[in-house]
Amino acid sequence: MRHLIMPDKYRQMSDQHLIEQIKAIKAELSKRLVILGHHYQRKEIVELADFRGDSLELSRDAARQKEAEFIVFCGVHFMAESAEILSRPEQIVQLPEFRAGCPMADMAEIFQVESAWREIDKICSAENFTPITYVNSSAELKAFCGRNDGIVCTSSNASAVFDWAFKKTAKLFFFPDEHLGRNIANKKGIQKDKVIVWDPEEEMGGNTSKQIKEADIILWKGYCRVHTFFKPEHVLAIREKYPQAVIIVHPECVEEVVGLADADGSTGFIVNFVQAAKPGSTIVIGTEINLVSRLAMEHPDKKIFELARSLCPNMYRINLRNLLWTLDNIGKIKIVTVPEPIKAEAKVALERMLEIT
Ligand code: SF4
Repeated sequence: MRHLIMPDKYRQMSDQHLIEQIKAIKAELSKRLVILGHHYQRKEIVELADFRGDSLELSRDAARQKEAEFIVFCGVHFMAESAEILSRPEQIVQLPEFRAGCPMADMAEIFQVESAWREIDKICSAENFTPITYVNSSAELKAFCGRNDGIVCTSSNASAVFDWAFKKTAKLFFFPDEHLGRNIANKKGIQKDKVIVWDPEEEMGGNTSKQIKEADIILWKGYCRVHTFFKPEHVLAIREKYPQAVIIVHPECVEEVVGLADADGSTGFIVNFVQAAKPGSTIVIGTEINLVSRLAMEHPDKKIFELARSLCPNMYRINLRNLLWTLDNIGKIKIVTVPEPIKAEAKVALERMLEIT
């Protein structure tokens, strides 16, 4: 896509003026426009969104939009792609900043996954495996799962999706987040030596034929920098300083951090956990800082703070300026498209996920 330069007028406007203009366009377009905002977005963006949520909630919200002609997605690229895949043909999905990608999603490219699949097939037949892609992945990977009887999952429903897949086949191939896959495998009590990692840089993913034949789950070697930033030392330091605190982390954290925490779950789970906590509780959260700061502000009756400060720079790329610029050019710029047949195949895998959760 051609890179567009933001007109100067947006840079010169105050935040207040930008917010007023955005609200005026929202009022004018009314039900023709829906703004979706991920929990990791800046506070001012989340406040302007019609729906806020995690990847699963926003996928559902996107699929439910029957009246909206325009869906403006304040999140990262793979989320807007999922909204586009689930939208009706006449709907237009726009992402205010195309450079808002997800480095984890970029860690598994389609040619690498297809090459791994062929290698696995030679060793113990790919028919024994269900491919599962985390929603944090390109449309091509979702399409790969769609055409190979696989499925998409989010961090909210990964456990249920793994159960669904294990009913179909004895083995799973999960990409691109090693840590989410490992944390789910641990919860299901799968033996450690039955879970192996596929490193796309290595021959046979860095495994022997025997390891591949005996594996129950093959995990792609990918990770989220925001969540692997949290270390066991952070948890131990909080335990010592605030022994009464409840520590809750996202399952993209490494297994040692999840093992030391009191609970783990998706951003939607974290939001509900905080809402349900008693006034006076101390809750320490290991996830993206914008969500933690907002929860602290929204729950002044509870003491809420971060396990360590970790910001997703890609989510942060969406701001009032590029949002207003997009709304001023509704249906015209920053349009997310997914070509056929990728769109139809990816839709199969996404709809399978929505059906079972
Ligand atoms: S928080 Fe991690 S997984 Fe989520 S968009 Fe940012 S880099 Fe990707």
